[in-house]
Amino acid sequence: MKTLFEFAEAVLELFFPKLCIACLLKNPMREDLFCLSCKLELPYTDQIDIPENELEYRVYGRFQFERAAALFRFKKDSRVQKVIHQLKYKNRPHIGVELGKEFGKKILASDSFPTPDIIIPIPLHKKKQKKRGYNQSYQFGKGIAEVLQIPIYGSIITKISDNNSQTKMNRLARLENVMNSYLIKNDSKIKGKHVLLVDDIITTGATIEAAAQKLLKSQDLKLSLAIIGMAEL
Ligand SMILES: [Zn+2]
Repeated sequence: MKTLFEFAEAVLELFFPKLCIACLLKNPMREDLFCLSCKLELPYTDQIDIPENELEYRVYGRFQFERAAALFRFKKDSRVQKVIHQLKYKNRPHIGVELGKEFGKKILASDSFPTPDIIIPIPLHKKKQKKRGYNQSYQFGKGIAEVLQIPIYGSIITKISDNNSQTKMNRLARLENVMNSYLIKNDSKIKGKHVLLVDDIITTGATIEAAAQKLLKSQDLKLSLAIIGMAEL
């Protein structure tokens, strides 16, 4: 049976070669998502171990946090965009898990990024999640949770509606509007905990800010952020 399986696998590889998820050209190294040149050239921020890093500056003063960091810098038409695109639209949830594991290992190796108690992903609206089949941020969080051996809660914060047009609102009204689109359930599970809030991409940080503000209403909650890609502003 084993040889038959190996044979089938070899045939599959011949017709559908596994490609590097960042350049979509070369074959990745064994058990990796990236080929060697992408692995070396991807724009890792290398800032997980650095307090007062770029991401922390971006959200500083908007809500209370312990630490915040992104794995990559994110530009349009870049390799990182290809990675995120496949994670979100090509039914490849395991990409999120693998990136989460990378992030988790960097937290373990860091002296300044404390290990959180629990992980909470930024939710997708129910309809969107149903269409995609999974929440990419949950998958990322799952990888981190696996490495740190802590729980991930995917349904504490849910997204209800986001249909209000925000174009005519000022910043505060917009924040309020986004905040109202999030709902917190099971407050007892997060009370007094250090929560790692995770998301795929951060641009201005409006979504993260709204979710963070909502979570921080819980008693004695501490918050940190883990993001896959930090977009150029
Ligand atoms: Zn590559």
